[in-house]
Amino acid sequence: MNDYVTVKRDGEIAVVLLDNPPVNALSLHLREPLHAALETLRDDEGVAAIVVACAGRTFVSGADITEFGTPKQLQSPSLPDLCSTLEKIAKPTVAAIHGTALGGGLELALACHFRVADKGARLGLPEVKLGILPGAGGTVRLPRVVGPEKAVRMIVSGTPISASDAFEHGLVDQVAEGDLVQDAVAFAREKAKSGGPFVPVRDREDKIAAAREDPSAFEAAVKEVTRKVRGLEAPLACAEAVRNAVNLDFDTAIQKEREFFLKLVAGDQSRAQRHLFFAEREAAKVEGVGKEVKPRDIRRAGVIGAGTMGGGIAMSFANGGIPVTILEMNREALDRGLGTIEKNYGISVSRGSLTEEEKAARLGRLKGTTDYADLADCDIIIEAVFEEMAIKKEVFGKLDAIAKPGTVLASNTSYLDVNEIAASTSRPGDVLGMHFFSPANVMRLLEIVRGEKTAPDVLATALTIAKKIGKVPVVVGVCHGFVGNRMLGARNEESEALLLEGATPQQVDKAFTDFGWPMGPFAMWDLAGLDIGWRNRKAQGKTAVIGDALCEMGRFGQKTGKGVYLYENGSRDPQPDPEVDRLIEEKARERGINRRDISEQEIIERTLYPLVNEGARILEEGIAARASDIDIVWVNGYGFPVGKGGPMFWADLEGLPKIVERLEYWHGKTGKDVFKPATLLKKLAESQGTLSGGSKKVA
Ligand code: NAD
Repeated sequence: MNDYVTVKRDGEIAVVLLDNPPVNALSLHLREPLHAALETLRDDEGVAAIVVACAGRTFVSGADITEFGTPKQLQSPSLPDLCSTLEKIAKPTVAAIHGTALGGGLELALACHFRVADKGARLGLPEVKLGILPGAGGTVRLPRVVGPEKAVRMIVSGTPISASDAFEHGLVDQVAEGDLVQDAVAFAREKAKSGGPFVPVRDREDKIAAAREDPSAFEAAVKEVTRKVRGLEAPLACAEAVRNAVNLDFDTAIQKEREFFLKLVAGDQSRAQRHLFFAEREAAKVEGVGKEVKPRDIRRAGVIGAGTMGGGIAMSFANGGIPVTILEMNREALDRGLGTIEKNYGISVSRGSLTEEEKAARLGRLKGTTDYADLADCDIIIEAVFEEMAIKKEVFGKLDAIAKPGTVLASNTSYLDVNEIAASTSRPGDVLGMHFFSPANVMRLLEIVRGEKTAPDVLATALTIAKKIGKVPVVVGVCHGFVGNRMLGARNEESEALLLEGATPQQVDKAFTDFGWPMGPFAMWDLAGLDIGWRNRKAQGKTAVIGDALCEMGRFGQKTGKGVYLYENGSRDPQPDPEVDRLIEEKARERGINRRDISEQEIIERTLYPLVNEGARILEEGIAARASDIDIVWVNGYGFPVGKGGPMFWADLEGLPKIVERLEYWHGKTGKDVFKPATLLKKLAESQGTLSGGSKKVA
């Protein structure tokens, strides 16, 4: 037909081959010839059955996201048109799936009568992750094939399933043993010979009948999967659409799905989530690290320190299939660290998220030592010892002496100067920061700190290894606290000030959870441990009125059962503590502050506007390359609500002129530096510019 769609014949079976690299996205230039081909084959009496297959490394992995919100997306034949035409073909139609069938790809496959998949294939509807729902019949057809409970789990989570899972639930009719297309052709031939009947998915009622009679099991599944959606519209719309598929007739349910889709795709949440999708890809582009820069080969990793971070970092490597040696100061500390790792894996097994075999395999990749010589053959070594420059330098001096040439030497420091650490070695080009977030085996963010002398291939190595161990890397420059913790400092300062001026911790935290954060700043202090900030402040000669006082009382947070809140009998549920209320009142009195009522709006302005302001300073200084990198840091490392796209994207929505005006107001009132508007922010506000103007792909 053209380069994107070719039709081959195997006797009476037609094979339609789609070829739109890299992932066969359903762009208009593919939809047009595909639609035409389907119409021709439908009317060709010599064709007994049709197989839809893909060239390249995967089946169709989705709609063309760059068309979202543009006229092209709706231009005929739209994806729903295509699915409808395909589904109405009376002769048997078979999708031959390899790689991934995602989003629009799976919707296309669902418009076929049958699906044959390669055993390594994965199938899913991940639209929810972009703040939308499947808009080409996915929510109406999938429940008819796998049942509404499985469908709602798949659609609300957006997580793809394996070919064997798909086979078990009827989504795949056959798992290919040999050549996928040959198997699919044989399957189609068999079906054509059988003479049918070939019931289109739209007319299948068998899997939804039970839920129609008694919706309790379905509703229980909905409740479970929508429990943690925190103000996101898309997961709820997904669940409602599946409910419609059960309760309404096919055409009405399809029409409702379309309405949901158009509403969501035009909304701020979806724009924010699409922004983040592109931002993550954009973050991988680093100045001076082009395709010609080849990463170094990493076969074995080393980690220094088996504490909170070292243990989690070592687990990340073991989880990613990379053997790792952990070094501690002495046997006791090592045993404690390794014991914690084993316990953590044990918890995953007891929760059913890890098998005993996987646990054994991961533990098998871990080795402990107290002897630096055992790290001599490591290709990358990450230091995670106490946050003190003298200790870091001593450790890097030892690494310099034993590491083979070319080993990447990384520090997990939260605040310290990576250039100074690098200078304590004879090979500063091999040194950089790799700042993981706690718990390091869970949190996806990795700030890669580029030192003055860090070599491009060392950065490329860190970026590559980050992906391999499932992290989202963002390259940042050297400054105190890098991007994330530096901005957090601005937020923390004002959170405390609000307490002294009249807010309660629970009021501040509620303003945050109402905004969409998983938790507020004070619940976060308690989770992370107040002593961490305390030690860090002491090292810098800084103080924090409430934070220091709580630490002096031994209230370090959840780990001591008391922090800003009270945690009784090992509970993780923060309870207000009158003792803390008294402490706050006393500290305010000492400072002559008349406590007053504080509104939720004031809390947001005084905590989040300084966050944006500090982000703008970071951009001015070139510590972050682009505003969207800052968004990635905050969404993946600090729980900034995804539906708001990160602080910089949110600031654009909020309006920069408004933010500058309020910052000026608070600066005038308090004289605090955190409120002094950054030059960049003022300039953009005056010129009607935006911070995330860089990500032009977002409609
Ligand atoms: P931790 O106290 O839990 O662990 C530090 C470990 O290092 C201890 O087990 C200690 O025995 C070991 N250690 C100390 N000196 C050593 C040496 N000379 N040789 C070998 N082992 C040594 O601390 P942590 O929270 O894991 O922090 C480690 C580093 O990670 C710090 O630089 C910290 O700033 C950074 N960090 C911490 C967090 C966090 O949330 N805890 C987050 C990101 C980064």
